[in-house]
Amino acid sequence: MTTIRENETEQESMKREFYHMIINGEKVKSSTGEVLKTYNPANGELIAEVAKASKEDAEKAFEAARNAFDKGKWKLFPVGKRAQVLNKIAAIMRNRFNELVELEILDTGKSLHAAQGQVTQAIEDFEFYAGAIVGHRGTVNNVPGQFHNYTEKEPVGVCAQIIPWNYPLMMAAWKIAPAIAVGCTVIVKPASLTPLTAIILGEICLEAGVPAGVVNVLPGSGSDVGNFLVEHPQVDKVAFTGSTPIGKDIMGKASQTLKRVTLELGGKSPSIVFEDADIDAAVDGSLFGIFYNSGQSCEARSRLYVHEDIYEEFMNKFVEKTKKLQLGNPFDKTTHMGAIIDQSQLDTIEGYVQSAKEDGADILAGGKVAKPEGYENGFWYEPTIISNVTQDMKVVRDEIFGPVVVVSKFKDEKEAIRLANDTDFGLGSAVWSKDGARATRVANQIQAGIVMVNCPFSAFPGTPFGGYKQSGFGRELCIETLDLYTETKSVLSYYGSRPLNPFGL
Ligand code: NAP
Repeated sequence: MTTIRENETEQESMKREFYHMIINGEKVKSSTGEVLKTYNPANGELIAEVAKASKEDAEKAFEAARNAFDKGKWKLFPVGKRAQVLNKIAAIMRNRFNELVELEILDTGKSLHAAQGQVTQAIEDFEFYAGAIVGHRGTVNNVPGQFHNYTEKEPVGVCAQIIPWNYPLMMAAWKIAPAIAVGCTVIVKPASLTPLTAIILGEICLEAGVPAGVVNVLPGSGSDVGNFLVEHPQVDKVAFTGSTPIGKDIMGKASQTLKRVTLELGGKSPSIVFEDADIDAAVDGSLFGIFYNSGQSCEARSRLYVHEDIYEEFMNKFVEKTKKLQLGNPFDKTTHMGAIIDQSQLDTIEGYVQSAKEDGADILAGGKVAKPEGYENGFWYEPTIISNVTQDMKVVRDEIFGPVVVVSKFKDEKEAIRLANDTDFGLGSAVWSKDGARATRVANQIQAGIVMVNCPFSAFPGTPFGGYKQSGFGRELCIETLDLYTETKSVLSYYGSRPLNPFGL
């Protein structure tokens, strides 16, 4: 890989690997010849060029998905056969595990351990839905008189699936697997910054036997082709993961044709550490809770509330360990934190830390752009702890989406719950306490879709993932996701021998 951008000659550019979009089972270039360039955030080098979809390409992808749904056989496949294909996708991904991990690291700058975990989960997601779909069925219902009623679960149709850059492969798997399991067809729009692994996943789907047109992958601009799909009157559903402002825009536009919508949006998740917590476990869990994936996680626990009696002990340990986190070569297994996705995100993080300083907060660790040796041209930020904050500060209210945590004290359970719920968001949350009754009581009162009790992990295939309030709605990664890709049809039939004559004529 050569160093990039302006200095690059056309010949150099031609040597790079080229990624096609996938429309109707074919790997194709853009109708306009336009390309997206994708860079390694760890060192700023160009990785690859990608066909950039135009509206004309988006229309072709839509037609392919529409035809495959309306006229194709995928939704008519016996469920066991669809399950077999999903398992085959997972098997091919397992065989290509190292390649997927490498590509994800190059495209996002994330650390090896993070990429390995996410690729593993993407694989397990297909396996989970291969099992789950077999048990997904309608109901038989009690009705009075000589009537019989049953329900069928029918696939909702053509789904536009719009993916963010922070977990490119895992988010694509969360969306494609349940949709195709029930018989839908999809057009996947990866984030412009990170399109590579979603394209490879599209190719793997074809190799595994998913018919042409069922999975289309359309790299391109969100405001252009993403918006086109959202507004398209014959797209039946939009499943979106991304920021809250774009989610609101999508919901407004999708309402014009009453499309089904699932929104997985931003967060500002609280972590509450009680005085009776295992302090070392809470320190380690809170480190992972914010600094995993360089804080670029929707459920990052970016607000930390610590009981006043243990505040000093907790903070001494938390600050000390934060300063030990290793940044640098993402492929090195001792690296804890990878890069920030791009310069614009780095600027956003810097802006928030600056605002905290101006508001009078204290920086206990980090607070600066980082320049790990050998990675000076990449985008890095130090793991940062901010204390002495008030609930009205920007740094406490807004999602920063970087390795920045704000910390404050609380006096009692009531205050902890009030502070935790004092946010527009409601995605993740964590409770640290050895008192099981208290942990349950607090978990029940937190307004969030996910509560982690004495645990730093938010989800595995099978556990519902999604938000309350402005973190969106709908749940992914679980059995009920299958319902979000289906319509329920109720069939009521009469089996009496006397004809019905309700008007009595
Ligand atoms: P984003 O800017 O909202 O973009 C997300 C996706 O939407 C990208 O593919 C983007 O395309 C596309 N898009 C942009 N404008 C659009 C429009 N007008 N119509 C249709 N699509 C459009 O979010 P991001 O910066 O990639 O991701 C970070 C955000 O995602 C954070 O807020 C994070 O909390 C959230 N997130 C939530 C979850 C969850 O499960 N709740 C999980 C992961 C991330 P381009 O790339 O071309 O702009």
